Amino acid sequence: MPEPIPGTPAKFNEGYSSLEHDDEFTLHDLKVEVVLDGRRPVCRHIEGEYFTVEGENLVFAKGQKISMYALAAVLPLLPAKQRETDPSDWMSTDAEVACPDPHCGGRFRITRIGKRRFSHAETTGLPEARSTPYWERDG
Ligand SMILES: [Zn+2]
Repeated sequence: MPEPIPGTPAKFNEGYSSLEHDDEFTLHDLKVEVVLDGRRPVCRHIEGEYFTVEGENLVFAKGQKISMYALAAVLPLLPAKQRETDPSDWMSTDAEVACPDPHCGGRFRITRIGKRRFSHAETTGLPEARSTPYWERDG
């Protein structure tokens, strides 16, 4: 058995055989959409433009854009929104993020649009637990 990896839950230090039955986890796919509700933004925010989040990837349809300043405001919340949260947690109920320019008025609505299963072994960087990365399987 390999040496335990410091800071890693015990089940991931027990070897690959124990991972076969409890290796998967779920993340929500997200849609991040521009919402203006009549406000005229300073930045280039076009009502209805959006991107999706699938695992670690931001997916843009052809021609869709987002201000890098607005993206910087949205990014820190995405990993939390991908995960199941307590119904009373504000992360479960609050869905809109404002553009960081206080005079802009642009907002971005984050919606959970589906669920996707991932394998720990296909997504971890821990040397003792990793297998073939998921993206080599899915393309
Ligand atoms: Zn803005």
